[in-house]
Amino acid sequence: MGAPTIPVLEVDLGPGIRAFFTTRHGGLSEGPWASLNLGLGVGDTEATVRANRRLVDAVAGAPVNFATQVHGRDIAVASASLASAPAPEVDALVTSEVGVPLGVYVADCVPVLLADPRAGVVAVAHAGRPGVEMGVVGAAVEAMLACGGRARDLRAVVGPAVCGDCYEVPADLAARVGERVPSALSQTSWGTPALDLPRAVTTQLALAGVAHVERIHRCTRTDPAFFSHRRSSADALPAGRFAGVVLRA
Ligand SMILES: [Zn+2]
Repeated sequence: MGAPTIPVLEVDLGPGIRAFFTTRHGGLSEGPWASLNLGLGVGDTEATVRANRRLVDAVAGAPVNFATQVHGRDIAVASASLASAPAPEVDALVTSEVGVPLGVYVADCVPVLLADPRAGVVAVAHAGRPGVEMGVVGAAVEAMLACGGRARDLRAVVGPAVCGDCYEVPADLAARVGERVPSALSQTSWGTPALDLPRAVTTQLALAGVAHVERIHRCTRTDPAFFSHRRSSADALPAGRFAGVVLRA
C-alpha cells in the first residue's frame, strides 16, 4: 500500500496467528488524541480516526473489524462479508475466517486477544470494570469453543491496561466487584481501595480453561506510550484509544 508503517507491539499466539497492539504513536490525530487515536466518539475528527484505522489495516493486511463497545458481555461473529456492515454493539468478536482481523480499542480497560492456532479460531474481548464483573472473557472463550476451539489449545494475551497500583475506586465499588471477582481486589500505591483488572482478567481466563495466558505488564496510566482515560481525565482532557488486533494470517 505504500503507507507509512506504524510502530506495533507484536505478540505470539501461535503458528498462523498474527497479533499486535498499537501504541499512541504513528498516527495523524493532533492535540490530546495525538497521534494514533483509533476511537470514534471520543471528540476526535471522524475522518482522522478513519485514516488512522486505515494505517492499522495496512499493518494487518485487511480492514480490521471493530465492534461498537458497550461494556457488556455479548459477542458477534465477524466475517469478511460483514466488514462493511454497521459495527455490532458488543464487547467481543470471534471468527474462524482467514484474513479477517479483529480489533479491540481501549484506554485503561483490558484488551484481550485470543487464538486457537490448531482449530483456527481467533477472538478479541474488551474487559473494563463492568466486563470483568459480567465475565466477558468467559463469554468470549465459550464462543471460541462453539466455533471449534479446544480449551487446551487456547492461548490468550492480556494487553496493556491500568494496573492495580493505579486504578483507585470507591470502597463500596471495590467491595462489590471483589465479592464477585476476588482476584480484582487491590490497593493503590498510596493505600486506597483499588481494582486490578488485568490480574482479574488473567484469572478469569485461567478459570475458563485457557491453557496459555500471557500478560503484558505495562500500565497505561503510567506508560506514555499508550492512551489512558485516567491520566487524561486528571488533566481534564479527552483520551484517544489504542488497539489490540488478532487475525488468522
Ligand atoms: Zn499503574
